[in-house]
Amino acid sequence: MAKIFCVANQKGGVGKTTTAVNLAAGLASIGQRVLMVDLDPQGNATMGSGVDKRQLALSVYDVLIESASVREAAVLAEKCGYHVLGANRELAGAEIELVALERREMRLKAALAEVDGDYDFVLIDCPPSLSMLTLNGLCAAHGVVVPMQCEYFALEGVTDLVHTIKQVHANLNPDLQIIGLLRVMFDSRITLQQQVSEQLKGHFGDKVFDTVIPRNVRLAEAPSYGLPGVVFDPSAKGSQAFVAFAQEMVARVPAMAQKAAGRARASNEKKASNA
Ligand code: ADP
Ligand code: MG
Repeated sequence: MAKIFCVANQKGGVGKTTTAVNLAAGLASIGQRVLMVDLDPQGNATMGSGVDKRQLALSVYDVLIESASVREAAVLAEKCGYHVLGANRELAGAEIELVALERREMRLKAALAEVDGDYDFVLIDCPPSLSMLTLNGLCAAHGVVVPMQCEYFALEGVTDLVHTIKQVHANLNPDLQIIGLLRVMFDSRITLQQQVSEQLKGHFGDKVFDTVIPRNVRLAEAPSYGLPGVVFDPSAKGSQAFVAFAQEMVARVPAMAQKAAGRARASNEKKASNA
């Protein structure tokens, strides 16, 4: 069964796409079967995986409006070792078209169910908003990975997102949990970043990933070559951090499965005792 994770944060420019493509490449490099779904009409994760968004015969848009299956629309990002369900500007129209459709927030979930056995991980790169597209991502996922910079207003931003995730969990997707907060673009020389990092750990405990992604220019350069940093320059500090993060994710999956089983048991026992 594939583990499905959204990379989400309603702020733009916080490192979502960088996290999605490098985690995908990192997981692929340690032998995991990965599908990366680009849910942002900007198509940066598509381009950043070496797939030309202007040349897509089929995209995630076709999947959301049910004119294609994931198997038909996904393509192999050859140099990266994972599959890409790509996006381009056409996806911006889906927002409006979906409103009129039934079960509009469950479209991606239904489509991904068909490829459940094909992958170990599905990663969804979300747009910087809490839109119908992001909602499709959150409804399809088992968990959310939240990349964040350790800056002054970081905690405030995360509080909004945590609230949204709790609402989706309560109303639409009982499987959804925050897997963790990923500290990105981190510069340990900056005292404020260290302070915010400590604050985060104090507040969110083990929901803060152990791996920290440093600010690293190679990660920023890689997209212009149509590659994740992990593939573009595997020896770069940032690339090594993302491979370590991939390993941390793989290690966390069994614990997540245990927690989910525990929740299911508790809810069955509750039902039994109410009956
Ligand atoms: P988002 O998808 O949240 O909008 P991006 O992943 O596109 O954010 O990142 C925003 C910018 O920051 C991009 O130019 C990206 O190359 C750069 N960037 C992201 N992570 C790092 C990092 N660890 N070190 C240096 N630059 C980074
Ligand atoms: Mg992005």
